[in-house]
Amino acid sequence: MKMLINGKHVDAKDNATVEVLNSATQELVDTVPVATPEDVEEAIQAALKGKKAWGALPQYERSAILLKCALAIEANLEELALSLTTEMGKVISESTPEVACCAQIFRGFAQMASHLYGQTMSEFQPGSETDIIFTKYEPMGIVACITPFNYPVELCFHKAAAAMAMGNAVIIKPATDNPLTIMRVVELCWEAGIPGDVLQVVTGSGAKIGSLLAEDENIDAISFTGSTEIGIQVAQMAAKTLKHVTLELGGNDPFIVFEDADMELAVAEAVSGRLKNAGQTCCSPKRFIVHSSVLDTFTEKVIESLKKLKLGSPLCKETELGSLINPEATKQVAWQVEHTIAQGAKCIYGGKIVGETYYEPTVLTGVTKEMDMAVEMEVFGPIFPIISFETFEEAIEIANNTPYGLHAGVITKDFSKAIRAARALECGGVVINGSGNYRNVDQPFGGTKMTGLGSREGISCTLQDMANVKSYILKNIMVE
Ligand code: NAD
Repeated sequence: MKMLINGKHVDAKDNATVEVLNSATQELVDTVPVATPEDVEEAIQAALKGKKAWGALPQYERSAILLKCALAIEANLEELALSLTTEMGKVISESTPEVACCAQIFRGFAQMASHLYGQTMSEFQPGSETDIIFTKYEPMGIVACITPFNYPVELCFHKAAAAMAMGNAVIIKPATDNPLTIMRVVELCWEAGIPGDVLQVVTGSGAKIGSLLAEDENIDAISFTGSTEIGIQVAQMAAKTLKHVTLELGGNDPFIVFEDADMELAVAEAVSGRLKNAGQTCCSPKRFIVHSSVLDTFTEKVIESLKKLKLGSPLCKETELGSLINPEATKQVAWQVEHTIAQGAKCIYGGKIVGETYYEPTVLTGVTKEMDMAVEMEVFGPIFPIISFETFEEAIEIANNTPYGLHAGVITKDFSKAIRAARALECGGVVINGSGNYRNVDQPFGGTKMTGLGSREGISCTLQDMANVKSYILKNIMVE
């Protein structure tokens, strides 16, 4: 597939390409260009034109086009879900809702932007009685969206649709492993009426293109979702031109099972939360902090449930566990498991790579609060490290002892305890009687500490982050 620059399908200036493989089978699906600096510059020059005309359109026109995009995505749901599953190994029963969610994101931002009102100031400050001050949300200009591999379609358009709804031009830099479905959505958006210089995609090396976008003085904002390590680099590069930066980064989310938990619920939520997207979810439960009195029951029941799990082709409707994104990611998970065993944990279920890109669901017991996996090591795979605790305070201390702070899950029948735990947890969201692997498109999604910077993402809040709030001051307008 070719890049999508200035309304055209283009190769890289030097014709270099990179392969996109089927994650599950490692067969070639397609190639995409590796953009040169000249290609990136061409996209930026086009966006400079695109932002003017698009930003000048009345809101009702922009929103009408975005609503058409939502319909076009829905009309092509099956094709897009198939493409997503093929290029990333996500099971088809999860790809279909992800694409449907993408359509809903377009619809949500189109509607919300139509009713995003400015403010009128009061006469609180003495001497301001004769002035009228009101605010308007205006476009920022060009927003570069650098996006991760794990929920490529949903996460990309949480940024791009919001940015376009607010009148900005957008340049997308998708993850190198799986850019194809995003590119197809962009083609559909062009057909639905988004101008080719308002929504563009440049493909290729994250390090090269990402840094060109982050450093370019014509780009006004960077919205990045990905690892904390790269997020910090992006923030440093963007600081040179003081760009507006939003970072949605990694997580090592706790899942606390108190002694009075409904055990069936705890196990079901742990397993579904951890295994969704083969464990490659920023907000999946990654540390299972379980009261010592229910530790054995919880562990046995988790294993019972894992034994019934169907691992296989992600295209098959019955498959519950698909592949990881690539062989390197699989080896990384294997290394993380071995490392934790070397630190003293015991692998009592699973623990092996299957083929090139599958990893068995794996249960590690005897994980202590000092081990890397219990603190800063983010594992993107179907791994269940189980950590025992005795008191409420200890559970909270273990949960908070991480540089990350995305989501958390708390399982207890005692609602007062659940709320006290939620208040004590240092993170962006707590699911009570569920795992933290939960996202509603409206919700302000994001985290604290090393998980994020800038505002949250969601239909309720991203628009404000994609706009310049301008104050209009009518000085002495009330003087007769
Ligand atoms: P990643 O950081 O490797 O890559 C993210 C994007 O950055 C990709 O498009 C990549 O090509 C690009 N990139 C790579 N090097 C770059 C550089 N030097 N400069 C600029 N851009 C560069 O992340 P990933 O592996 O695609 O995604 C997984 C990570 O994302 C996990 O840590 C996960 O927790 C996190 N994540 C967070 C959220 C959230 O909302 N908090 C959501 C999804 C994923």
